Amino acid sequence: MNRLTQALQARRNQGLYRSRRVVSTPQQAELVVDGKRVIAFCSNDYLGLASHPEVVEALRQGAEKYGVGSGAAHLITGHNRSHHRLEEALAEFTARPRALLFSTGYMANLGVIGALLKTGDRLFEDRLNHASLVDAGQLTRAKMVRYQHRDPQSLELQLARSDGGQALIATDGVFSMDGDLAPLPELVELARKHRAWLMVDDAHGLGVLGPDGGGILSHYGLGVDDVEILMGTLGKGFGTYGAFVAGSEGLIETLIQQARSYIYTTAPPAALAEATLVSLRLARRESWRRERLNSLVERFRHAAGQIGLPLTESATPIQPILAGSARQAVAWSMKLEEQGVLVSAIRPPTVAEGSARLRITFSANHTDTQLERLLDALAKLPQAVA
Ligand SMILES: *Cc1c(COP(=O)(O)O)cnc(C)c1O
Repeated sequence: MNRLTQALQARRNQGLYRSRRVVSTPQQAELVVDGKRVIAFCSNDYLGLASHPEVVEALRQGAEKYGVGSGAAHLITGHNRSHHRLEEALAEFTARPRALLFSTGYMANLGVIGALLKTGDRLFEDRLNHASLVDAGQLTRAKMVRYQHRDPQSLELQLARSDGGQALIATDGVFSMDGDLAPLPELVELARKHRAWLMVDDAHGLGVLGPDGGGILSHYGLGVDDVEILMGTLGKGFGTYGAFVAGSEGLIETLIQQARSYIYTTAPPAALAEATLVSLRLARRESWRRERLNSLVERFRHAAGQIGLPLTESATPIQPILAGSARQAVAWSMKLEEQGVLVSAIRPPTVAEGSARLRITFSANHTDTQLERLLDALAKLPQAVA
């Protein structure tokens, strides 16, 4: 195992070593991490629902009713009526004929691409897509082509250059490490022109964008005829766990028959579906959570601009601050932590070489005072401010 130890040491030397922190509180704005109280600006619990009392109560009651384990895969005896009701609620929420639950977003992406494409087909992906979409592309027998980030012209060149089989364009809706939006209207047009299917992974848009949290598709006013395949996760804006795919009857039935990451795995607990039914209702109904988020983001951007922090184009609750080198990002993150503010450093290979960053995220639960604390701490990063 000498080889492993050496590789680990090399990783350490490059500032790329990753380690876990132990959290001993529920997910909320203030956490106890490794025994220390901090204000966290790095979770994806955008709406602040992860430890909402009604969601917790639904989980508890669900467990009393159905126990904990689901006992088997969905296609055996694991498919509880709570799962079924949640699928119906998600289909209604996304205004699509059907929805299908997956255990995680990672598995949903592997499942969809694995089920829909075969040898001779073509998969087109944005360069900055989430790792799960990239991994799905590496596993498929179809040919994967990456196009320049948010660049329809680059996509069109690639589409025109290749030929044969079914084409599928897959993109993050809100890019997870950058917070910017996919140019969906243009992608829809290109997909039509080239008879390609379009898949949007809206892990960071659902619950957050659009009037009732309908995500990036409702932000752009796009429906199932524009984007055939919608993937959403439940562990971010909705504050619970799991994922789903929504689309036509034909799509969902195909996934039930063919998506290996759906078929060959134990169904998630029914109680979790009960909890998500409640968080979905809260996410839709309580628009103040989205308004609060938007106001935090606006105030952050305004104040950060005044300090001279290098902001990006993002208008979403994902606000990166580019550091460049992994070492710089880690040094900044440590400096913030000394002041009781937790923001994680995102380094290669999660992001491209030379684009390591702090990834600041906001939650509707953050208070004004907590925002001030973040800004004060950021203002003390000497190399960051212009
Ligand atoms: C988080 C994320 C996933 C993975 O979802 P999990 O449910 O956490 O496995 C997929 N796609 C994107 C864009 C994500 O941000």
